[in-house]
This record gives sequence, structure tokens and C-alpha cells, in this order.
Amino acid sequence: MPTRTPMPRTRQPARGAHQTPARAAIDHAAARQTLGDLTDAYQWAVYARTLAHHGTSAAEQLDAAVLLAPLAALIGHADQAFTTYRDLVDLATAALGASHERTLHARAGLAAAHHRIGRCEQAIRDLADVYTTAERRHGPEASATLKALTQLACLYRDCGSPDISKRCLTVAATIAARYLTIGDPLRTQISDIARMPASENHRAVCTQLTPSWPVPATSLAA
Ligand SMILES: [Zn+2]
Repeated sequence: MPTRTPMPRTRQPARGAHQTPARAAIDHAAARQTLGDLTDAYQWAVYARTLAHHGTSAAEQLDAAVLLAPLAALIGHADQAFTTYRDLVDLATAALGASHERTLHARAGLAAAHHRIGRCEQAIRDLADVYTTAERRHGPEASATLKALTQLACLYRDCGSPDISKRCLTVAATIAARYLTIGDPLRTQISDIARMPASENHRAVCTQLTPSWPVPATSLAA
């Protein structure tokens, strides 16, 4: 899977005396994540989500879910990541609309969560819909479009469809070369992903019916 950039949080005014406990916990979780302490950040994100869930601020509920969903995936809580991404999609759709870039980002995260627990067909179908929605609404060169297409290539590759994966990456690289400057992080990420092998870990959970993974080097040597 590509390294996913964090979904941007709602812009907030400077900290002050009126900061709610949920917002303080969200900020603290984000700070711990920035420092690289993922376990601590995860625990604070769980706490923030509980506080936000009992509050009335839709922005805080959204931001708490934005923080917790990828952290749960990173820590290895695949089922919690799935349910949090599912809630995040609902919150983002209600607050921003179905084709807003943040909602599309959340939907791409939910597709990855499906894929992580072996719901491969659903993941690919949902992500393909994110891609076509992003392309239609934001254009082929938009970050949301290129990220969805690149992620789709990774899903196909991990599910044993390298030819379709290569076609997706070729389209993404062509668009990136046309619209993005050399050195643009997204353009660099697309070329990096083109050189990456399929995820060995995914094979244990993959449910695609006709995979054609490359023969491992160890088998060739036997
Ligand atoms: Zn799969």
C-alpha cells in the first residue's frame, strides 16, 4: 500500500481558554503523532474520539475520527480501523458532501481498510468509484484523483493482478508528468510505487478468485 498522507483536519483558531477537552485531546494526539510516538498518539486519539462522541461539535467528531482511523491501522487494529473509517465516511459525507476531497480521502481510507481485512472485491470496487468521482469532480490532475488511481494500482498488484496495476500506474505517471513539476512529492511517490513489489502480507487475507502473483524467488531456486 502507498504511504498515505494524513487527511487534513479542520482549521482551528489558536489555543485558548475556551478549548474543549475533546479539542485538547485531538491536538495532543496529533502532537504525539508528529513526534513519532504512535502508541501514545493512538491512545490519545481513542480518548479524543470518546470525548468528541459525547460532545455536540461535528468538526471535533470528524477530526477525532480523522486521527484515529489511520492510527488504528498503523498500530495493527484492522477491525477498529475499518469501523472508524466507516464512521469517518459518514461524518465527512454529512458535513462536506459526497464528492468533497476530504470525503474522497476518507472513502479511499475505508477502501484500504476493506482490503486490509480481505474484502478485496469491495475495496477495489469502492476505490474505483472514488477515482471516477474525483476525476469527474476535481479533474484528472487533482491530488485526490491521482492518489486514488495510485492506490488502486497497489490494490490490484497486491491482489495478484499486476497487468491492471501497471496500466493504472502508467496512466497516473502520464498525468503526473503532464501536470506536476519534477520533484513534486506525488509524482515521486507514483514512480516509487511502480518499483515496489506486491505486499507479501496481503496474500494471507486476499480473497480475489483468480490471482496471478509472481512466483517467489525462493520457488525458482528450488
Ligand atoms: Zn486481495
